Amino acid sequence: MPLDILAVAAHRDDVEQTCAGTLLKMAERGYRTGILDLTQGEMGTRGSAEDRAREAAEAARILRVSWRAALDIPDGRVENTWENRLKVVRVLREQRPRVLILPYWEARHPDHYTASILGYEAAFISGLAKLAVSQQPAAIRDTGGDSAAPHRPFKIIYASLYHDVRPTFVVDITDQFETRFAALMAYKSQFTDQEAGSTIFPAHKEIRARVESVARHYGMMAGVTYAEPFVQKEVGLVEDVLAIPVKSI
Ligand SMILES: [Zn+2]
Repeated sequence: MPLDILAVAAHRDDVEQTCAGTLLKMAERGYRTGILDLTQGEMGTRGSAEDRAREAAEAARILRVSWRAALDIPDGRVENTWENRLKVVRVLREQRPRVLILPYWEARHPDHYTASILGYEAAFISGLAKLAVSQQPAAIRDTGGDSAAPHRPFKIIYASLYHDVRPTFVVDITDQFETRFAALMAYKSQFTDQEAGSTIFPAHKEIRARVESVARHYGMMAGVTYAEPFVQKEVGLVEDVLAIPVKSI
């Protein structure tokens, strides 16, 4: 069964911080959602890659995602190479999402903006009929089957919460906010109060306040309580101007 929506991000917990409310909302509507983390988080100040794998699985359960996997791209060294693009292509052809959520293409962390470009280029070449999966290096040719059939997502939207850019639309996550926050808190190695990295990681109470105020900020832009921001490159298409949401004055 193909996925309806796949969110791709550099690090475990990026999706939880940027678009998890939207994924949960879509899962509640009966869509099949998925998360692909490009790295396993081995460079994090806190917790091992194994800790983060366990936490990611718990977050996925909370968010009711149908599929989640992490690639073996080195943490802190996400590079837009042919080999890495093919790793993402294999997932796209296996999971066949209609909607792809990528990180916004500008960011402070190089892994984040590289993941955006890497994801876009992988989505493009994934649709090339003559690009055979068998051309991939042996290290990532691990599933076989008919995963080679070309597939290009219909729609790409960019989760822009990490960057100060005006979203083209927001998704109302008022009803999903608490569960989304619980999914983030599943990353106990990252977010519980502890000594290691206490100078760079905010305390639990502070995290709650930040996550809430950001979600409220984007919610306020659309007249709802909590929302998540997205950018799309295409224009919006309207059938009925009387049905356009969000009050102007
Ligand atoms: Zn990240």
